[in-house]
Amino acid sequence: MTTNVLTLSAYEFYINGEWKESQSGQTIDIKSPYLYEVIGRVQAITKEEVDEAIYFAREAQKDWAETSLQDRAKYLYKWADELIDMQDELAEIIMKEVGKSYKDAKNEVARTADFIRYTIEEALHMHGESMRGDSFPGGSQSKIAIIQRVPLGVVLAIPPFNYPVNLAAAKVAPALMAGNAVIFKPATQGAISGTKMVEALHRAELPKGLVNLVTGRGSVIGDYLVEHKGIDMISFTGGTNTGLHLAKKATMVPLVLELGGKDPGIVREDADLYEAAKHIISGAFSYSGQRCTAIKRVLVHEKVADELVGILKEEVEKLSVGSPENGNTVVPLIDEQSADFVQILIADAIGKGAAVITGNKREHNLIYPTLLDYVTEEMRVAWEEPFGPVLPIIRVSSDEEAIKIANESEFGLQASIFTKDINKAFVMADKIETGSVQINGRTERGPDHFPFIGVKGSGMGAQGIRKSLESMTREKVTVLNIGE
Ligand code: NAP
Repeated sequence: MTTNVLTLSAYEFYINGEWKESQSGQTIDIKSPYLYEVIGRVQAITKEEVDEAIYFAREAQKDWAETSLQDRAKYLYKWADELIDMQDELAEIIMKEVGKSYKDAKNEVARTADFIRYTIEEALHMHGESMRGDSFPGGSQSKIAIIQRVPLGVVLAIPPFNYPVNLAAAKVAPALMAGNAVIFKPATQGAISGTKMVEALHRAELPKGLVNLVTGRGSVIGDYLVEHKGIDMISFTGGTNTGLHLAKKATMVPLVLELGGKDPGIVREDADLYEAAKHIISGAFSYSGQRCTAIKRVLVHEKVADELVGILKEEVEKLSVGSPENGNTVVPLIDEQSADFVQILIADAIGKGAAVITGNKREHNLIYPTLLDYVTEEMRVAWEEPFGPVLPIIRVSSDEEAIKIANESEFGLQASIFTKDINKAFVMADKIETGSVQINGRTERGPDHFPFIGVKGSGMGAQGIRKSLESMTREKVTVLNIGE
């Protein structure tokens, strides 16, 4: 809903170092997922304002590309310090805006500052290379190539709602250290947190125009941004459908897409079931499963399935449920629509014969943690990403069957294998079609300097600090021809 009544805090957008209200006169209400009230408004900016933001970014990038790494680093270190200074304020906003517990929100801010600092250090230690021409025909022995990494220009950074500060900074920090300017379009539900993050950059006195914050619904300004000729690279994290849509619109522009997942937790017959259950529970239910790398299905050997289900049931029933203000693990989902979708998946599974072990209770957009057993391949919940606290258990009779079902998914983000047989785990890991495989641990994005990769419907390209710096630069080759 858009409105032009400015009774609550209306956050401004940020362009060329200045905070502004949009000429549209329109703002978007940001409603808290658990307070059920509007907590602020962000600007619904116009296409002309998008053009201006990109123009200023292009101008600012020219000098920035010439700025030394040490000087770029000074601004980013200051940014990290500013974020820590405002950690409590920012955590409160993240909690209210995206319904994450205060503790997790504080951790998100601390992790972001660490991420920025590590990005600086990595960038300072990245060097080019040189190559000899060797014996290729045409006198190539007399050639030496000097290969440097140069910035791409203006990076469009689009994060999702669930880590509104961390996933934004994970794009902005490497883009800046690599010498680019940034157009940052936060998720609308997450735009206040994103605005606060940019306030920290403003206080760090980042040169004007280098980061411009454009707010507005993705469905309204998204295509315009993505197709804009002034954008040189797009770093997107979000749902697979949005990513597919965006990839069709963006032409001849490098893309890094980190999309949805359906990460399996594979439990072998020989696994330590208590240990596996611990990882599965925190993997599946923390922040109500609103994590791309949440464990979204369990593929368990039938011989140990009853025992595992018993342990999981006990653990799920211990999970705290309710408002994020009280530090609960399972919290209301981001909106009613998301809760409706989860319920549809649960109902479909029950209709087709799944057994509800616990849960399947709802209050508004709060879905109680739900464990479904005897899930089969005919059920939607076996394949679709709920982005909510529901965990389907699929019983399998062999490693091969587990691998087959794992790989039949349209997604390929991560997978976990729980086993005491490490050799077997490696053999299985090699066969699983995902960006990463975790052995005896839950699926997760961090540590942030590990490469983070989605394959198939889970994405394209790689993130992870060094990988992000590489994806936001290109190689430039200068050849020295040595005279005879
Ligand atoms: P989403 O609905 O796809 O939105 C993601 C971002 O795309 C938002 O900023 C959104 O803006 C924007 N957008 C929407 N339409 C657009 C368009 N036409 N052009 C350009 N941008 C557009 O995803 P979400 O609900 O925020 O996040 C949940 C999804 O993200 C899940 O599928 C999850 O698995 C995935 N995710 C993946 C990773 C990963 O690293 N693989 C990490 C976290 C989350 P508006 O908010 O204004 O619509």
